[in-house]
Amino acid sequence: MRFYNTLTKKKEEFKPIHENEVGMYSCGPTVYSYAHIGNLRTYIFMDLLSKTIRKNGYNLKHVMNITDVGHLTSDADEGEDKMQKAAEKENKSPYEIADFYTQAFFKDIDKLNIRRPDIIAKATDHIPEMIKYVQKIVDNGYAYETSNGLYFDISKLPSYGMLSGKKLDGEKAGSRVEIDAEKKNPFDFALWKKAPANHIMQWDSPWGKSYPGWHIECSTMSNKYLGDQFDIHTGGVDHIPIHHENEIAQSLGYSGKIPANYWIHAEFLLVDNGKMSKSLGNVYTISELEQRGFDALDYRYFCLNSSYRSTLNFTFEGLKAAQKGLERLRNCVKMHSASNVKVDQAEIDDYRKKFMDAMSDDLDSPKALSIIWEIARKDVKSKQYADLIGEMDEIMGIDISLKKIEEREKMLEKKLTDSLDAEIQNLISERETARNNKEWDKADKIREELAKKGIKIKDTKEGVIIERITT
Ligand code: AMP
Ligand code: ZN
Repeated sequence: MRFYNTLTKKKEEFKPIHENEVGMYSCGPTVYSYAHIGNLRTYIFMDLLSKTIRKNGYNLKHVMNITDVGHLTSDADEGEDKMQKAAEKENKSPYEIADFYTQAFFKDIDKLNIRRPDIIAKATDHIPEMIKYVQKIVDNGYAYETSNGLYFDISKLPSYGMLSGKKLDGEKAGSRVEIDAEKKNPFDFALWKKAPANHIMQWDSPWGKSYPGWHIECSTMSNKYLGDQFDIHTGGVDHIPIHHENEIAQSLGYSGKIPANYWIHAEFLLVDNGKMSKSLGNVYTISELEQRGFDALDYRYFCLNSSYRSTLNFTFEGLKAAQKGLERLRNCVKMHSASNVKVDQAEIDDYRKKFMDAMSDDLDSPKALSIIWEIARKDVKSKQYADLIGEMDEIMGIDISLKKIEEREKMLEKKLTDSLDAEIQNLISERETARNNKEWDKADKIREELAKKGIKIKDTKEGVIIERITT
C-alpha cells in the first residue's frame, strides 16, 4: 500500500511498525450537533482506509475519539466551548447533548456502512489520564501556567510547525489569533484551561477547577490505546495547521516522539462550490438528504467518485446522478447473478488484483469504481462477476453484493407496505373483493382511484403487485 503522508508531503510505501499489526487513530466528532455531510465525507474516507488495510491482510486496531468537552468555537484557544454553547441553547446538560448527538452520529455512520472503530474513546471518560499527560509535559519543561490555564511553550520545540510547514516568524502576532498578553508566544496553545465559575464542565486538577484543551484529548487517548508511537493518524485537512500540529508538539513534549508515522488527511467537501455555512442554509445532514428522497448510500457512492485528496463539490444534481448510477450498477449485478455461464478464473483474479491495486494506491476509489463498472457492463453475464463485485463491496460499502441488493429490495418493499395508509389498504382489499366477484368495472374504477393517489396496481400470475408511482 502507498499513502500520501502529510508529514513528509510524499506518497509513501506503507510500512507498519509491527509486522501485520496496524494501529490507527482517527479524530472523531465533536458531539454538539448533527454531523454534516462534509464531516461524514471524512468518516467515509476513514472507513475506506481501514477496510483497505484489513483487506490487505493486516490486523488493524482502530481508535476514534468522541469530543464531548474542550473543543472551542475556534479550533485554537478562542471562543466558547462548543458543548457548553449547545447545552445553553438547547437547555440541556452537556452530557445530555453529548449522548444525543453521539447516538445520532452512530445512526449516520451505520447508514453509511461505516464500520465502527474498535475503540471509541470519550474525552470526559479520560480526565485523570489527561491530567497525568499534561503533568508530564509540565515536568519535562514544555509548559507554563498563566491565569487562564497551562500553555505549551513552543519556543522549547524548534520543530514546531513540521506538519503544516507554517512559518512562525512570518505570521504577525495577533494577525489571526487574539493576543493573550500572558502568552509567551502567540502560537503557544492551551493544554488545560482554568474554568470560569460559569463553565458547566469542570474538574478538580493540580491547577484548580479546570477542563482539558481539545488537542490534549487526542494525544492522551491515542497514547493510552496505541502507545507513544503508532502507524496512522487521520482527520480532515482543517486539522493540519492547528489540531494535529499541536498533537505532535504535545507528544514530543511528553515522550520525545512524533506519535504517528503516517498522517493522512481528507480534503473538504464544498457545497455549490463554496464553504458550507449555516447562514447560507447549505449545511446538510443525512436525514435532510433522506427527506429529499435519497439514501445515505447514494451519498457514499457520490463520494467514492472522487479521490479523498481532492475537494469535492456537492450539488443535488450530482447526488441525483449518483443515485441513478448506483441503481444501474445494482441492476447489472442482478443480471450477472442470474447467469450460470462460467468465465475464465484468471480474468476474475486479474480484476481482483487491479481493484486492490487501485485501492492500495492511496485509496484511488474513482479508479476502483471504474473497474467495477467495467465488470458490471460485460456483455457476457456470469454469477462469478456478480460475486467478484460483491467481494469488492466489502471495501466500497455501497450494497452492490447480491445479498445486500436482495436485503435492500425486501426492506424497500416492507417500507412501502408499511407506508400504505389505511385508506389505500381499504381500497386495495375492496378491489380484491370486486375482482373476486367479477365486478370488473368497479375493480377498474378503484384502480384509477389508486393511481390518483400514486399507487400502481399490477395483476400478475403470482398475485397483485403494488408500486408507488414516482415522478
Ligand atoms: P468536528 O466534529 O467539527 O470535529 O469535525 C469532524 C471531522 O469532519 C473532522 O475530521 C473535520 O476535519 C471534518 N470536516 C469538517 N468540515 C468538513 C468538510 N466540509 N468536508 C470534509 N470534512 C470536514
Ligand atoms: Zn483529534
